[in-house]
Amino acid sequence: MSKFLRAGLRGLTAYTPGEQPQDKKYIKLNTNESPYPPGPQVLAAIREGELAELRLYPDPRMQRLKKALAAAFNRDFGLALGVENVFLSNGSDDILNFAFAAFAAEGGRVLYPEISYGFYEVYAEYHKAAAATAPLDPDFRIDTAPFLEKGYALKILANPNAPTGIALPLAEVEAIAASDLDAVFLVDEAYVDFGAESAAGLLDRFENLLICRTFSKSSSLAGARLGYALGSVELIADLALIQYSTNPYSVNRMSEAVGLAVLAEPEYYKENARRIMATREQTAQDLRELGLRVLPSGANFLFAGGDGLADPGGKAVYEALKERGVLVRYFGKPRLANWLRISIGTPEEMAVLIRELKDILGKA
Ligand SMILES: *Cc1c(COP(=O)(O)O)cnc(C)c1O
Repeated sequence: MSKFLRAGLRGLTAYTPGEQPQDKKYIKLNTNESPYPPGPQVLAAIREGELAELRLYPDPRMQRLKKALAAAFNRDFGLALGVENVFLSNGSDDILNFAFAAFAAEGGRVLYPEISYGFYEVYAEYHKAAAATAPLDPDFRIDTAPFLEKGYALKILANPNAPTGIALPLAEVEAIAASDLDAVFLVDEAYVDFGAESAAGLLDRFENLLICRTFSKSSSLAGARLGYALGSVELIADLALIQYSTNPYSVNRMSEAVGLAVLAEPEYYKENARRIMATREQTAQDLRELGLRVLPSGANFLFAGGDGLADPGGKAVYEALKERGVLVRYFGKPRLANWLRISIGTPEEMAVLIRELKDILGKA
């Protein structure tokens, strides 16, 4: 920290992303990336199209991709979204940042679950929002009662939640949206394609609802940095106000092209999601057979541990796995001390994980 950093930022704790180590080749089960490559159309788009156009700025309004996204949701959810209901940015983290800036900065009251995506806390601190949290019960289920209260500027729910993977049924999500029409309700659906219910079908009824999605997980494009939000024309305009006051070209030409290519072959990604869900259920069963508690997951990861990891402890198991070339995510917070978040890889990768875990736990 330099002596020049302004006082207001000196206490800020930045988000710690999962490791992306470069020292050797790991089986990477730590950042919820897809184990499957982007589809053939994506590879074709990169080869054939946009490289030659890189001398030109991208379309700052991103009309083509917004149109394609609106069409996809109109088809899947019977909606009538237009381009002005769609927002695009450089990853959905960017959108969360804008949402805090637009709706909850400088003392705005914001609510999110006590255990959830770590970035919410970071943005709350960065934007000096007044943050409150909804508790989780011993089974890591969110107590939704605080979410039904009035008086918040912004309520944020990751559905499925991270890192638990537990999804909230649509009826409960709808009840939260309806509980306070004066609060922006942001549903972070980063993992919704792995078996949870989307709230997108509610968009035509709730102008306070903002749905945040990403191409990073189920669309195999974490490296492209492409996220989007869906909401009322007014909410989207508020996000755009922040975006065009910071970086109007936040989505680059390559990313727009690959996003379009993903939308052109939805079956490829649906099939990958089906494979990942099948691998997830097999892995959950294998982990339970090793004595671990495994939370029911609607995501492309499992949250596993509990007493079954108490000896030698979550941290020791995380380290031993890393030593053996398998990377998982360890959070180390008091309540999560004996829990690991394990991304779902290919069946072969998961077999290695189970084999090494068996050995580490002395159950081989
Ligand atoms: C991965 C993730 C994001 C961020 O996605 P990007 O589009 O890669 O920035 C947002 N929310 C949750 C809950 C996530 O797990």
